[in-house]
Amino acid sequence: MTKEQDKIITYIQSLLQDGSIEDQLPEDLRVIEGVAEIDEALRNLRNAIKSISDGDLSKQLAGKGYLMGTMKSLQATLKTMIWQTKAIASGDFSSRVEFLGEFSDAFNSMAQKLERTIAEQKELERKLKESEEVHRLLADNASDVIWTMDLSGKFTYVSPSVEKLRGFTVEEVMAQSREELLCPSSLIHMEKGLEDAIYSVQNNLPFEDFRGDVEQPCKDGTTVWTDLTVSGIFDKSNQFVGMLGVSRDMTERKKMEEEIRRLTELDSLTQLYNRLKLDAVLKMEMERYGRSGSPFSVILLDIDDFKKVNDVHGHGIGDAVLVEMAGILKGTIRKIDTAGRWGGEEFIIILPESGMEGGLALAEKLKERINEHNFSGVGHLTASFGVAESEKGLNVQELVCRADKAMYQAKKTGKNRVCPFEKGLEISTML
Ligand code: GH3
Ligand code: MG
Ligand code: MG
Repeated sequence: MTKEQDKIITYIQSLLQDGSIEDQLPEDLRVIEGVAEIDEALRNLRNAIKSISDGDLSKQLAGKGYLMGTMKSLQATLKTMIWQTKAIASGDFSSRVEFLGEFSDAFNSMAQKLERTIAEQKELERKLKESEEVHRLLADNASDVIWTMDLSGKFTYVSPSVEKLRGFTVEEVMAQSREELLCPSSLIHMEKGLEDAIYSVQNNLPFEDFRGDVEQPCKDGTTVWTDLTVSGIFDKSNQFVGMLGVSRDMTERKKMEEEIRRLTELDSLTQLYNRLKLDAVLKMEMERYGRSGSPFSVILLDIDDFKKVNDVHGHGIGDAVLVEMAGILKGTIRKIDTAGRWGGEEFIIILPESGMEGGLALAEKLKERINEHNFSGVGHLTASFGVAESEKGLNVQELVCRADKAMYQAKKTGKNRVCPFEKGLEISTML
């Protein structure tokens, strides 16, 4: 080998193996034909490998030929991989790589898995949103007021129907204090329920639903009664999340209850208490007498010769007389007294805390009022009265029976009069 050839080989070896080399091709080698081209090709290759291994893919790679072409292709593939990774990071999982065998398999499988997981999560979110929307729609459109509350008594949701019920907007209700939410007696009731709920949750006891009729203030100054049910809300792992309340307007129910009460307690013709209610009042008075010892009395009155009214003027006029009679009774008795229709043309007055004396006085007053009254279509009418006073050992039936006996005595002795029950009457009717 010539000295020149030896120098060239040593120089090429240094280009291939040494980290640092001279900046320029040494002058004595430059003049040898073909060495400058080999030097440029190898220096370009060194630069390309160095910048790729440093992670700098932005550098424009100089040079041509098979090796540089391969280096440029490697740089392009790496650039594509970075771009694909960025695309995945931004949520686009459609890209796949064809590079480095196992690496591309692992990369593609990761992208596929991510794509599937994200799609499943999106579907789950969509379903959740859909279900939330359905529930919100239901709550927002229900006529009942649906609300949720945490254990500190703070609302977390109130359905818009509250405005129809109470006149306050959802925002106003959310900001209301307990005193503004509930009328005093209902507040006591609900605070007890809340206390029990807190105790149950803190002591891991089952949450007992609580129910009650509560009165709530309205924006216009009135109040509204609602039927309230409160239950606990628990998550999948059975952890307490809050309370769910449903408040239902009871106005219609109250009206219906009132109507039912009216129908069961009142006589349909005279609108006085009927026999059923009178029995209950008598029983209550008897119990009160038993406790207080302060006697009460009953007046039984029967219209005199009422059959004649029907016979002469007809049943319709007879009915009107009964209604007018009820009016006289209602207009004469005290507030605490009870007037009722005992049956047919017989009426009863119950006088709490009033013994025989008070009973006789009211009966006389009623007798006078009836005497003075001009019954429409009929004119003058009279009635006979029997008065009895409560007594130890006497039950309701026996007391009314005594008043009846006294009334019978009034009929017997000329009608249009008041007779007290006296012991002799009992014996005389028994004979
Ligand atoms: P007395 O002075 O003895 O009481 O004579 P009376 O005619 O009132 O006697 P009685 O008690 O036998 O008759 C009562 C009548 O009252 C008989 C019945 O037809 C009538 N009557 C009962 N209920 C009604 C009613 O709801 N409407 C009408 N128009 N009449 C009734
Ligand atoms: Mg009668
Ligand atoms: Mg009669």
